[in-house]
Amino acid sequence: MTATLPIESQRGAKRTGRIPVAVLGATGSVGQRFIQLLADHPWFRVYEVVASDRSAGKTYDQAADWRLESLVPDEVSTLTVKPLGAALESRLLFSGLDSSVAGEAEDDYAARGCAVISNSRNHRMDADVPLLIPEINAEHLDAIEEQRKRRAGYIVTNPNCSVMGLAIALAPLERAFGIEAVHVTTMQAISGAGYAGVASYAILDNVIPYIGGGEEEKIETEPRKILGRWSEGRFSDAAMTISAQVNRVPVIDGHQMTISLKLRQRADLHDVRAAIESFTGEPQRLALPSAPKHPIHYLDAIDRPQPRLDRDRERGMAVSVGRLRPCPILDFRLVALVHNTIRGAAGAAILNAELLQAKGLL
Ligand code: NAP
Repeated sequence: MTATLPIESQRGAKRTGRIPVAVLGATGSVGQRFIQLLADHPWFRVYEVVASDRSAGKTYDQAADWRLESLVPDEVSTLTVKPLGAALESRLLFSGLDSSVAGEAEDDYAARGCAVISNSRNHRMDADVPLLIPEINAEHLDAIEEQRKRRAGYIVTNPNCSVMGLAIALAPLERAFGIEAVHVTTMQAISGAGYAGVASYAILDNVIPYIGGGEEEKIETEPRKILGRWSEGRFSDAAMTISAQVNRVPVIDGHQMTISLKLRQRADLHDVRAAIESFTGEPQRLALPSAPKHPIHYLDAIDRPQPRLDRDRERGMAVSVGRLRPCPILDFRLVALVHNTIRGAAGAAILNAELLQAKGLL
């Protein structure tokens, strides 16, 4: 889409040289990450913020219960929060909306001609909506053409936060050897539940072996779409079976997971490790501003990755992998870690928008 920005926005963009964007759900856990990560972004600047009626009409500073270590960026703190559904001047929207409202609102803004880059689960599995990880499936952006037959704008989604770590860890092995079966057990941080998510009394000194909202189903289905193909106007899933078990653990940021997998072709440990270490994709080729230099960091130490020590590698945009070894039941096992609100949410959406811009789709 060639974005036709309103005159005011065009002037703003021209003045700063950056594209004006709106953040939907700007006050939440993911929304605050958007605000933080976009503060110094070379291509985009936050021009509008949107949240619920509880926040609308207040300045961002008053509405957001800011929890990040950096300060609220000056250029955002005085913006007035708009209610969901309000007319927006920005044509590029980042959505960190609660899933109870995201589905309808994102459809609505896409119908008005906006490019909506969403974190929410609502449209991830839609037949013409890319579930994008630019290192893996940049060609899925061709589905936008299909979407634009039914509306003026479009929606592009990024996966569930655990799926981001899982899919990036699996992608080099799927490419090189094919994957038949995966068993994954996650240990997920509390920030993944949003600010109202888990009561401290429930999570401290504890592990909760259940996460609502269909978490296990998402982990079992989304990677198959991501690692699958777009051809002849439809997605076809990768032919692998995934079994997922999820746990909420008392970690603030960083979803860690243990993975066992069965390959389609025989491979030795050396080949598997070489495939993981050499993994790279479109964001690295295009040198996108948020792209990690290496999407996967393989860690040699026997007790890594660990959330507190490794989640911030490459500004939270790299997935850490370690403990690759044979599995006595399947073929291989390993540990992966992803920063859930950066690479697993806001950072992922920003990287998606950068790819769209680099491909001339904004
Ligand atoms: P959150 O902290 O609860 O924030 C939700 C946001 O949605 C807030 O800005 C809230 O505004 C807004 N909102 C809630 N109800 C609304 C309504 N009726 N109308 C308009 N706005 C409304 O949740 P979160 O953790 O940031 O998650 C946001 C989305 O990203 C969810 O769909 C989630 O599944 C997905 N996601 C989260 C993560 C993660 O690690 N946290 C990772 C990947 C994807 P108010 O402040 O005004 O209520």
